[in-house]
Amino acid sequence: MKGFAMLAPNEVGFLKKDAPVLAPGDALVRPLAVSPCTSDIHTVYEGAIGERHDMILGHEAVGVVVEVGAAVRDFRPGDRVIVPAITPDWGAERSQAGFPMHSGGMLAGWKFSNFKDGVFAEQFHVNDADANLARLPEWLKPEHAVMLCDMATTGLHGAEMAEIGFGDSVVVIGIGAVGLMALQGAARRGAGHIYAVGTRPKSVEVAKHFGANTIISYKDGSIAEQILKLTDNRGVDRVIIAGGTVDTIAEAVEMVKPGGIISNVNYFSGSDTITIPRPEWGAGMAHKQIRGGLTPGGRRRMEHLLDMIAAGRLEVAPLVTHVFHGMDHLPEALELMRNKPADLIKPVVIIAEE
Ligand code: NDP
Ligand code: ZN
Repeated sequence: MKGFAMLAPNEVGFLKKDAPVLAPGDALVRPLAVSPCTSDIHTVYEGAIGERHDMILGHEAVGVVVEVGAAVRDFRPGDRVIVPAITPDWGAERSQAGFPMHSGGMLAGWKFSNFKDGVFAEQFHVNDADANLARLPEWLKPEHAVMLCDMATTGLHGAEMAEIGFGDSVVVIGIGAVGLMALQGAARRGAGHIYAVGTRPKSVEVAKHFGANTIISYKDGSIAEQILKLTDNRGVDRVIIAGGTVDTIAEAVEMVKPGGIISNVNYFSGSDTITIPRPEWGAGMAHKQIRGGLTPGGRRRMEHLLDMIAAGRLEVAPLVTHVFHGMDHLPEALELMRNKPADLIKPVVIIAEE
């Protein structure tokens, strides 16, 4: 089968591989629609997960079941499915502790394009199929459904970890697809004033549509200084980080109120350490919590997101700014994610029209 892979650090291309082998609980899926992620860029060009060779990329896909192992109960060949980016081993100790994304080791619930071949292939392997696949309903287009695999679940996790209460003021740092979903999550949880940090015009437009009250540019100087000025030095109740650098945590500590929560879903590169400013952290006593998490995955999570869309409480269509038709466009779509032009939020590649 054909796949689009990280051939070596900084090098991508198509290759051929044997189809994956199934264990009794697994499924083989062929994609209908896939989307490249900023994490694929971190993987190929920033050494985020270390050296990989000939590893098929991609972890956001909806598709059709081709084959199932003998122990799979709920899915049959021909079923249309949503495949979450995070596919935990549900029997693992960390899953039982409530952290399925870390089943099998820290961040190890993230298997596609990390510990095994990803979804940018003619076929791909899904472990624990009954617990990780969700049915793709007829009423949802594949190019929109594919936003649930990672973008919606991750962004909402940012809002979840922030424990936003009614009226809480919130800063969302970064309004790419992940930050925009965090912003929508914050609004859904009843946030008061929402400040959104980013510059791409398309992102700014969608941020306002999802409920941002004030847009701030990180290019205009310190985000913390801008927020403190806008809030008469009071700061905000919650900060969600979905973009920025290793220095962004320090800014978040500066702008969050004592007792506030900083919730990070961003991937930080560029340094092995992250600095927390001592005075702004109350010398360790300010009750300013810093949380960070990989998104949850699995079937139930996808089904909950589907229920939110069906109920009119989650909107994902505005994220999809570019749609390509055919697997041969994967390099182009990945390049868009790398260059992030002004009109881009997320590209989708339709692999099969049916
Ligand atoms: P994007 O690159 O599309 O968005 C990043 C956002 O951050 C943009 O709005 C950008 O602004 C803004 N930004 C860039 N530099 C800075 C800065 N110095 N200070 C503040 N804001 C800045 O990324 P995605 O939305 O696709 O992904 C966001 C992050 O989430 C990535 O690191 C990705 O790897 C990670 N991720 C994490 C997951 C998890 O499970 N925790 C899952 C999926 C992704 P501008 O408008 O100017 O471009
Ligand atoms: Zn991703």
